Amino acid sequence: MMSSPDRLAVRESLAMMSGYHSPQLDVAVRLNTNESPVPPPEGWAEALRAAQADIDWHRYPDRGAHELRAALAKHEGVAPEQVFAANGSNEVLQCLMLAFGGPGRVALTFEPTYALHSHISRLAATEVVTGERDEDFSLDAEYASAMVAEHRPAVTFLCSPNNPTGMVEPPELVERLLAKVSALPGLLLMDEAYGQFDPYTAVDLVDESRPLAVARTYSKTWSMAAARLGYLVAPSWVVAELEKSTLPYHLDTMKQIAGRLALDYEDEMNERVGMLVAERERIAAGLDQLPVRHWESGANFILLRPDSGDGEAVWEGLVDRSVLVRNCSSWPRLSGCLRVTVGTPAENDAFLSALSEVLT
Ligand SMILES: *Cc1c(COP(=O)(O)O)cnc(C)c1O
Repeated sequence: MMSSPDRLAVRESLAMMSGYHSPQLDVAVRLNTNESPVPPPEGWAEALRAAQADIDWHRYPDRGAHELRAALAKHEGVAPEQVFAANGSNEVLQCLMLAFGGPGRVALTFEPTYALHSHISRLAATEVVTGERDEDFSLDAEYASAMVAEHRPAVTFLCSPNNPTGMVEPPELVERLLAKVSALPGLLLMDEAYGQFDPYTAVDLVDESRPLAVARTYSKTWSMAAARLGYLVAPSWVVAELEKSTLPYHLDTMKQIAGRLALDYEDEMNERVGMLVAERERIAAGLDQLPVRHWESGANFILLRPDSGDGEAVWEGLVDRSVLVRNCSSWPRLSGCLRVTVGTPAENDAFLSALSEVLT
């Protein structure tokens, strides 16, 4: 495309960025974005329809989302002042970086990890320092602490279970980094988008005296990706700052109700999580029989690399068989890798048999 001399260019830091893309292809089996393969409980949908009848559509929503935050606080065992809700955990992270990042400040990530951590940091004009994980995708605590000491990040990101590797961070590492970050001072952001798929959570460490914030979402475990709702559990002084960096009335009334009602169906959520964890292990056992390497996962997806090293060809072979997985093969540090989301038993069967056909 020709660039017109009359057209205003985007700011320099954005011109370098390519944005976030996950192709939305029309296939029978969609295992590429880590959504839940099953809808939320029917009881929830009915309750939401009933509640919708009482919405005052001519009024702005409750700006502080008080009922939703109180329900989330009860659910997580913290105070309502320690909960911040937004349009997906991505907006939570954006508010965090707008409040605590910015020019002259540093965000630290350990790659490979969720691409949005560095992307959102840069959008918020924050310098990103990239730490490296080991060959097996684990993070050396000594090295990570040294990176914090050297670069003095305002925000240090961890993701557990980590996307796209599936790895759960060891509690010792989290506690050690938290101590390091506290001394700076800085913040440790734990992204627990997949937190319920593994027993470990850092939510138990959240306390007014610790600079730890834990982000969670309705998009994965709660089967509510369409709702765009996420939240942060953090000290109240962090939450108070985020409220300054968000747009007024950013959480619409319908969404606040949807999120609050969902929490009444925790047993059903845990049941779905249990089904997906069992299916994850079944997929892993299937992969053991095929010429691929795969990594142990604490989430609802598995990272794998065909022994041929040609992830691109395998990805295309799967698309030809109407199975869509995430193609990570050209991502830095993930050469040849694919990431498959755990689906329904039938979808997982379709994936395993398509993969076996492609590989043999
Ligand atoms: C899917 C995902 C999210 C979810 O973002 P939402 O905006 O809540 O949908 C956040 N973090 C990670 C690591 C994810 O994989």
